[in-house]
Amino acid sequence: MRRAVTLLGATGSIGASALDVIARHPDRFTVAALAAHRNGDRLAELCRRFRPALAAIGDAQAARALARTLAAEAVPTRVVAGADGLIEAATLPGADTVLAAIVGAAGLPATLAAAQAGKRILLANKEALVIGGALFMAAVAAGGATLLPIDSEHNAVGQCLPPQPRGDAAPPAGVRRIMLTASGGPFHPRPDVDFDSVTPVQACAHPTWTMGRKISVDSATMMNKGLEVIEAHWLFGLPAAAIDVVVHRQSIVHSLVEYVDGSVLAQLSHPDMRTPIAQALAAPERIESGVAALDVARLSALTFEAPDRRRFPCIDLAYAALAADAAAPIALNAANEVAVAAFLNGDARFSDIPRICERVLERRDTRPVAALADALAIDAHARSLAQALLATSDSPKTFVAARAAPPDTLAPLSPDL
Ligand code: NAD
Ligand code: MG
Repeated sequence: MRRAVTLLGATGSIGASALDVIARHPDRFTVAALAAHRNGDRLAELCRRFRPALAAIGDAQAARALARTLAAEAVPTRVVAGADGLIEAATLPGADTVLAAIVGAAGLPATLAAAQAGKRILLANKEALVIGGALFMAAVAAGGATLLPIDSEHNAVGQCLPPQPRGDAAPPAGVRRIMLTASGGPFHPRPDVDFDSVTPVQACAHPTWTMGRKISVDSATMMNKGLEVIEAHWLFGLPAAAIDVVVHRQSIVHSLVEYVDGSVLAQLSHPDMRTPIAQALAAPERIESGVAALDVARLSALTFEAPDRRRFPCIDLAYAALAADAAAPIALNAANEVAVAAFLNGDARFSDIPRICERVLERRDTRPVAALADALAIDAHARSLAQALLATSDSPKTFVAARAAPPDTLAPLSPDL
């Protein structure tokens, strides 16, 4: 039977990689629904090509325009709008698989709804799990959903762990620790870079992966790895002490699992998201992903080093948030989203990102998280704190005024990247 797949975040980088894999296997997959934020033109293109039953778009005006376009071309796709439309796509009865690839906390309500509806969830939207935490995992268990990570590190760990009995949240037996690999982004190998003056173009110039802008900045601050530590804690039931981060600049080893007998298992592949997406789409089978074979004889070197936690304080902020309470990861994620958006708009320095996150963590709303409404309230409170800090800080406006024609590219990195 063909799997019917819904893509939340269909117009993004992960959405494109997923549709590339799906299009290679029309005998295995159909597209049930596609959802996106605003890009109606791209969504129209995808509807023409994949002919889903449903398309969901955030903006009501964009939805009306999309519905007109599709009707005029007799494309049999019903169009829905807004947050309710997104939930309708996530819970569509005709779909068994939901690929969650919205960026940020905005993806939580729909991904949670997919969990409650018992879908097979392919999770890219790590922020949903970071802020959903225990609530999200409980919804997966109660809804009888299956959670398959496609974040490359977690997909790699999943491939190196023995299969867990369904619904078993206990830490996997015999595992001493997991090591999440990090490329280090554009700046880990560059201690000369001044974090007060890097530009969005420099921060988004990732050495090994091509991704959306928010995750690219998260990789440059290494907050991405911090969020991934929290993500790994929930996915694999491991304590923070058993989750390590190691910098591996080549992005070939996607993570490692160390067992108590001294064995270390790793998953290797090119840095191309089609590999983890294909693995999760077809699991337990294996399918062609379009990714070239890895020619190990041509790999010059695989290097591993400890991250520089002083220059990249976001890693420790995430560990601290995980150790604190359920509210802390929510506040950390919200502050980070606000600070990253401000940085991308030229309203904050790169160095403001960890600073804002730390201050918001200190002043967060510490209410217990018993329901989605609590998580959303903590998120909203943290966002307004972060906005207020940005508005009162001397740095942003000074920064915008002072950075007359900054260079948009750094000197090239060493060619092994
Ligand atoms: P992207 O910016 O390229 O795409 C984001 C998608 O989300 C778009 O389709 C956009 O329309 C949609 N979206 C954004 N805000 C929305 C909203 N409010 N409502 C509905 N839809 C909304 O991002 P990406 O790089 O594809 O990343 C998506 C997610 O996957 C992120 O959580 C990221 O951390 C994770 N991820 C990405 C990669 C990668 O290689 N790109 C790797 C691992 C994990
Ligand atoms: Mg990752």
